[in-house]
Amino acid sequence: MDLRTTPEQEALREELRGWLTENLPWEYGVGLPPRIDDLAEAVAFGRRWQASLAAARWVGVTWPRDLGGRGLGAVENFVVTEELARARAPELVGRIGVNLVGPTLLAHGTDEQRRRWLPQILSADELWCQLFSEPDAGSDLASLRTRATPVEGGYRVTGQKVWTSYAQFADWGLCLARTDPDAPKRQQGISVLVVDLHAPGVEVRPLVQLTGEAEFNEVILNDVFVPADRLIGTEGQGWAVAGSTLAHERGVNPRQLVIHSQLIAELLALAEAEGGFDDRRRRQALAQAYTEVRLFQLHNWRSLSALAKGEEPGPEGSALKLYWSEMSKRLHRTAMDVLGPAAPLWAGAEGNPGGGAWQRSWLYYQASSIFAGTNEIQRTLIAERVLGLPRG
Ligand SMILES: Cc1cc2nc3c(=O)[nH]c(=O)nc-3n(C[C@H](O)[C@H](O)[C@H](O)COP(=O)(O)OP(=O)(O)OC[C@H]3O[C@@H](n4cnc5c(N)ncnc54)[C@H](O)[C@@H]3O)c2cc1C
Repeated sequence: MDLRTTPEQEALREELRGWLTENLPWEYGVGLPPRIDDLAEAVAFGRRWQASLAAARWVGVTWPRDLGGRGLGAVENFVVTEELARARAPELVGRIGVNLVGPTLLAHGTDEQRRRWLPQILSADELWCQLFSEPDAGSDLASLRTRATPVEGGYRVTGQKVWTSYAQFADWGLCLARTDPDAPKRQQGISVLVVDLHAPGVEVRPLVQLTGEAEFNEVILNDVFVPADRLIGTEGQGWAVAGSTLAHERGVNPRQLVIHSQLIAELLALAEAEGGFDDRRRRQALAQAYTEVRLFQLHNWRSLSALAKGEEPGPEGSALKLYWSEMSKRLHRTAMDVLGPAAPLWAGAEGNPGGGAWQRSWLYYQASSIFAGTNEIQRTLIAERVLGLPRG
């Protein structure tokens, strides 16, 4: 790939910087987003912020213009995400809708479904969650047991989902359920349905994570009625639909690239202040962290180049996901090492450089090798689908 962006792409970058300077709720390039410890308040703030971004068409820039996007390409999307992250804008509160559900509806939804849901996804008027994982179906998703029994006018859905991020705030869930339990293979007979999270029979139970926050949940579905027009794609062919959703969870990741570029800059500043460069072993770990973030940038550009040529996200995305999650864990381990005796302190403690942000980030990113498919599974995908090794 030619790593230089075109004058048009740079003009887009300038336009967004101008918009951010005017509209960011803190001073561009100087300030930081407000620290909101209460998750519900953070979500409310995130909805207002995403609505203002969407009104100026800075969300879903690759989506068609008549659905609220700008009809732009993957490189432009990368530029926009890069600039938002550089301005320290918070992650999109509707990211599951924007990054996973939207592309799935664009690929497999009907015109009516796209018009019904896509504009509300962009504006965060409606939030979505991903109802895929179950207690006995995470890595082995095809063993899912949630049943969707065809009935007059639609389906009755019963089952249990787990690790459902943001379900407590969601209006809709993209749900994998078994419509034909007698299908000859496990991947067959599965369908993708849109479940109304406010419908009778839906129960959401928050689960507390290592960070002390409850971002994800258990979702119990008890005989929930789903009208027939909320089936995405063809009944029984949901495995292929889910495959395209999962492909968008991996691959090019400008957001994590900029987050980790910021983290490494902050880590080097922390090391400078805390005498982290005095120790030879720590110096080497810092140099390694810096080099790895730069390599991550190159990996991203390579994948972006493929997307820009019109290629669909494929199994190569697993290599990127594997790489950045391990890079992130090493970087955070080095940060804890640099913090030294302050490492076990929490927010509010005295003598804690960063006020607890490093510790929270360290705990949060332990999940990076689990979500969007564990690293063991990514290795298997790389072995079988990229390298073509025999199946185990
Ligand atoms: C922060 C976070 C947010 C999440 N959000 C969502 C969400 O919004 N919606 C959703 O549907 N899911 C979500 N998940 C779930 C996530 O996709 C699963 O946790 C993940 O797929 C692993 O499944 P599991 O937890 O059931 O672990 P398991 O599949 O039970 O795996 C347990 C261990 O066994 C290993 N293992 C399993 N099978 C194999 C194999 N064949 N070969 C080698 N090793 C294997 C795994 O690598 C892992 O180490 C989230 C998870 C996290 C951590």
